Amino acid sequence: EANTPDLYAPVEVGLHGVTKSFSDQVAVAGVDLNVHEGEFFSVLGPSGCGKTTLLRMIAGFADPDSGRIELDGVDMVGVPPHRRDVNTVFQSYALFPHMTVWDNVAYGLRRKRVRGAELRKRVGEHLELVQLSQFAKRRPTQLSGGQQQRVAIARALAAQPRLLLLDEPLGALDAKLRKQMQIELMRIQREVGTTFLYVTHDQEEALVLSHRIAVMNAGRVEQFGYPEEVYERPATRFVAGFIGTSNILDATVSGVDGSWVDLDGAGAQRLRAALPEGRAVRHGEAVSVTVRPEKIHLYDEATQPPTGWCSVHGTVADVVYTGVSTQYVVDVPGGDTLVAFVQNAVRVDDAGAPGQAVRMAWDPAFTVVFEKEVL
Ligand code: ATP
Repeated sequence: EANTPDLYAPVEVGLHGVTKSFSDQVAVAGVDLNVHEGEFFSVLGPSGCGKTTLLRMIAGFADPDSGRIELDGVDMVGVPPHRRDVNTVFQSYALFPHMTVWDNVAYGLRRKRVRGAELRKRVGEHLELVQLSQFAKRRPTQLSGGQQQRVAIARALAAQPRLLLLDEPLGALDAKLRKQMQIELMRIQREVGTTFLYVTHDQEEALVLSHRIAVMNAGRVEQFGYPEEVYERPATRFVAGFIGTSNILDATVSGVDGSWVDLDGAGAQRLRAALPEGRAVRHGEAVSVTVRPEKIHLYDEATQPPTGWCSVHGTVADVVYTGVSTQYVVDVPGGDTLVAFVQNAVRVDDAGAPGQAVRMAWDPAFTVVFEKEVL
């Protein structure tokens, strides 16, 4: 249940048509989104897509050119940052170097006139929350990067804001520490239940941490959804390409059969996909289709895959052993390339060596159709 946010919980952050430009540069272009109370919500997108600008407007460091930003249903545009019940954690921890860890965590509380036993209790609880009680007397420079970031999180949460904004908080950490801190952040959020709005360009991080994700590109939200949705059913070519590894093929609709679409792709081979939700497809329409590499099974050319599966023949171009899996890069007719990840745990033989003819097949439920975008 830890991973199911309560979507009947009140909407805490509501963005409506939020737009912001800098001279000739549109940074945020009409973003609508709702974040519910208690959610761990991520805004995921490449550098420059407008994530930080969006967060700064929610914090009150900048105002939108148009649109509304509501916190608990109240329009915040024009309300200064310190009057919003919001705190921000940045990539640079921005701790006070001359203060101890304890005083850093106490800082916001003292400004809120919390004193005495109540202050000690709140600081103590939050140091415990981030597992740094034993470091209370140290200064930030005597801590590792991960520990400093935990102090920053404790400091931000100690004031008990309604909403915590986190802008690439793990960006400065090395890969291994980052993974540990992801687990840590998840635990902290689930424990305190504060709404987290998290900005990252790291797709894996967003998938691991979030209840829901908004995928941004060039100032717009291209898709919202649960991690499984944005990964398994990308709505656009951008989302398919940005999250994980995708195979993208051009195809033509050759028929619609109930809730299935028949397609010609990879050199007039027959493909099948579930009818995309909320969109009609026309016979003869040029579309793009995608299938994730781990959904593809690799057979020798003579083997018949299960009935009804998509089945494409091709020639192995490259085999890359990656430990957990082996990646097969296969050239298919029509000039496209498909990548298949085969788990080494279940790999029984040499399924293919470069130059070998193979058959790649997958359950059509894993083929996703979207509009062909002119690149
Ligand atoms: P990153 O992950 O690199 O921080 P981002 O997704 O957070 O990127 P933003 O920082 O929001 O992106 O920037 C969005 C766009 O707006 C960029 O093209 C950026 O150059 C531009 N921009 C942001 N702030 C300003 C500013 N103060 N003045 C001019 N242009 C700006």
